[in-house]
This record gives sequence, structure tokens and C-alpha cells, in this order.
Amino acid sequence: MKYDLIVIGAGPAGLMAGRTAARDGLKVLLLEQRKKINNVRRFCSQLIRTGDSGFSSAKKPTDIKVQPVTVTFEVNEQNHRFHLNHLDEDVTVDYQGPLRCYHNESWVSPSGHYFNTLKSSEYIYGFQLDKGMLLEGLAEECVTAGCEIRCGSKCIDVEETLDGISVKVNIEGKEETLKAGHIILADGAFSPLIGKLGFNQERSDLGPQIKLLAYILDGVDSPFPESYHLELSAPSIYPSEVPLGLWVQDKFQLVMAAPNFLKMNLVELLERFMKQSAFAPWFASTRIVDRLGCNMALRMPIWEPARGKVILCGDNAAFAEAAIKGAFGCGYNASKAIKTNLEGGDGNIKFNKFWQGAFYFHSQQYRGRSKEVYPPARVLDDNGIDTLYKWISKNDFCGLPGDILLDNAGQLKEELPDIAEKVFP
Ligand SMILES: Cc1cc2nc3c(=O)[nH]c(=O)nc-3n(C[C@H](O)[C@H](O)[C@H](O)COP(=O)(O)OP(=O)(O)OC[C@H]3O[C@@H](n4cnc5c(N)ncnc54)[C@H](O)[C@@H]3O)c2cc1C
Repeated sequence: MKYDLIVIGAGPAGLMAGRTAARDGLKVLLLEQRKKINNVRRFCSQLIRTGDSGFSSAKKPTDIKVQPVTVTFEVNEQNHRFHLNHLDEDVTVDYQGPLRCYHNESWVSPSGHYFNTLKSSEYIYGFQLDKGMLLEGLAEECVTAGCEIRCGSKCIDVEETLDGISVKVNIEGKEETLKAGHIILADGAFSPLIGKLGFNQERSDLGPQIKLLAYILDGVDSPFPESYHLELSAPSIYPSEVPLGLWVQDKFQLVMAAPNFLKMNLVELLERFMKQSAFAPWFASTRIVDRLGCNMALRMPIWEPARGKVILCGDNAAFAEAAIKGAFGCGYNASKAIKTNLEGGDGNIKFNKFWQGAFYFHSQQYRGRSKEVYPPARVLDDNGIDTLYKWISKNDFCGLPGDILLDNAGQLKEELPDIAEKVFP
């Protein structure tokens, strides 16, 4: 067989898988549907956070043993290096693009009351980078290690055969069938291919499908330090937080999301937010330089993504998203598992064990916390958000809103009973 391994998808998971396998001496082919690896049009905030917090709660679950992959940043003048922690060895990714630092995250009410996620802004909350450049650098390392990469190659079918894997690919209108001993599917969210292999059976949706629209902006004039990731609330216009963050080339990103079934017009809502909300003065001289979008779904994560000659890797098997560092961890471990399988061992067991212990979203306790408290901007009006954020700030509470409200539920019920009645189901 020409290839030991075919990897589908040149996102963070697939590229890390391709690089690791090639460095271990495997004959690897990586297929990517996009023509250029650095041309990432699916929106991603491009923020790599320090620490191992979950997205909706920073509380480490206690119902399962979990140790997510974290990143240590080695920041230099131009040539940065990320060290991935909690893997079997020191795995690094070199990055030669721009890096903008976040020192904190602030949650801001219409009247300007705010609280922070971190206790002190002297810490580093995370870095915003150019994902296209990150992937391009990794692709170069793949090629140097001997991995063959074919861009403009969309995989349309995958089949497990007696002696390996057969992949049908469409390359510029022409169909070709390729064969390998094993496959790593790293084709991102909403993968139709993993369904063809039977992995989505009995996989339930845990929420509606969500659409996101991001405006890339030039010239935002906020009173907060630029290195603060902001979560702005103006429920009279839009019933959720609106993240305002950094983007490469001194730009900013402003993001809105809504469930598809509500048929909300995000273009109209973003325009209204920028022109009519309490935050409008910040955008008085702003120019929109790009628009990016994507869809997202909350789905039950796949419990055993490694089976037979197939390993699912990254977002395609996840609850919502593996995030860049999680996807790197998956790619690395998936390749190591394939190597073990080729040597006659059982790498699949090891990969499944890694996957089940690397993400908060496998914890029922973690997923359940979102049912114990509503997002404030969904249930409160502008005045309610002002009152709540003022109360949080006066008490010097820090953290993610859900964690703060649940940790201090008794005090909130006593001091702001009208608000408490709305935020707790
Ligand atoms: C709104 C939003 C914001 C986010 N913000 C952040 C953030 O700030 N920080 C962070 O760390 N993560 C963030 N993420 C998550 C992050 O983008 C993903 O978790 C990560 O990119 C997953 O990597 P992946 O390799 O699994 O998939 P992807 O990055 O989606 O890569 C999949 C690749 O497979 C290719 N592909 C798909 N189908 C085929 C096919 N049939 N044939 C060939 N190629 C195919 C795609 O073109 C793509 O290149 C965000 C996600 C969303 C939705």
C-alpha cells in the first residue's frame, strides 16, 4: 500500500496529525479541500487562552478525571513557540505571525459597569494570533517531515475495507480513489464523512444550530485597555453578550450569534448595535473591513472516536469545539495511536482514553451547569444588567458570569431578589 495513513483536513488537528506521523516515519498523505491552507474563512476568534478553563465555566469538573491540553507560550521578537502540555513529550509548534496579548476579559453593561474574568490584569489571559499563518507554518513543517499534502482535494466518501481504507476524492472536478492502511478524519464540525462511517448513530443534538457573524473592524474607540477581551451587553438590542476582541493588523472583531430557527438578521442587529446601543460612540469612526461567518452546533460528543482503522480527530467528534490547543492535542495523540496500531499494539484504546480525559465537555456536571443559570443578557433588560454588573463589581467578584452567580446564589437572592428570580430557572 502506498500510504500508511491518510489524514483528511488541514486544520490544527489534521496538520498536527500529519506532522507527527511523518516525523515518526509513516508514509502520510494529507488531503485538504481548500486551495490555500492559510486562507481560513470559517470564523474563529483566534484566541489561545492560558490555563485550562472551559468556555462556559472555569470550575474543574469533579465527576470525571479531566486534564485538558494547555499551552505555554514562548514569546520572542518574531519567532514564537507554543509548548503543548500534558502530552507524553514536549510537543512544540513554531509560529512566525503576529501575536497580540490579552491581559483580562471584562463583562460590560450598557451604563459601563463591569467585572473581570481574572482577579488581576497583571496575568496573561491569552493571545490572539493569525490562524492562517499558524496553519501555514505547521504545513511547512509537515512537508519538511515528509508528509505529502494535496490542497484543492475534497473527500467525498470513505470506506473501511478488509485491508485498510478507501477514500474517494474530488480533485478539480476529477474523481480519484486512494487507499491507505489507516485514516485520521480531521475534517471539522458537521462532517458528513464520519456519518458515512456510522459514528453519528445515536448522537443527540444538545441545542439548536447556531449561526455566527463577525465583523472585522478598523478604528474602534473603547475606554477599556486594548488588551482586554470585552463581552458587551445591550439586551434591548440583542439578547446575548457581544464579544469585542483583537484581530491581526491592529483590527478588532465584533461577533454576534443566534440560533438559526429564530431567523434573526445578524447584519441588521450588528448595524443597530454599532449605531444605536449604549456602545455606539465606540464605533462612531469605525470602518468594516471584512465579514466572516460560520455555523455551530451543540452535539453530544462521540465517546469512542478511535475504532478499527479510523480515528476521528478534533471538532468532528466534539461537543461544540475542541479549540486550537485541544485539536493539536488530538492530532498528536491520534498519530501516535496509528503508529502503535501499525506496530501491532492497540493505540485506539489509548487514544479514546486521552480523548475522554482531555475535555471538560465530557463531564455531565460541566454540561449541566448551563441549565442551572440563564445567561443574564437573555433574561434581563438593560437596567437589570446594569444593576447586576454593579452588584458583582461592588462585591469584587471575578470569573465567568455563570460561575459567579452560582457561587453567590444565596447572597444574590437576598440582595437582588428580582434579578435572582430571573437568572435562576
Ligand atoms: C465561532 C467560533 C469561534 C472560535 N474561537 C476560537 C478561539 O478563539 N480559540 C480557539 O482555540 N478555538 C476557537 N474556535 C474553535 C476552533 O476554530 C476549532 O476548535 C479548531 O479549528 C478545530 O480544529 P479541527 O482541525 O478539528 O477543524 P477545522 O479547523 O475546522 O479544520 C478542518 C479542515 O478540514 C477541511 N475539510 C473539511 N471537510 C473536508 C473534506 N471533505 N475534504 C477535505 N478537507 C476537508 C476544512 O477545509 C478544514 O481546513 C472557535 C470556533 C468557532 C465556531
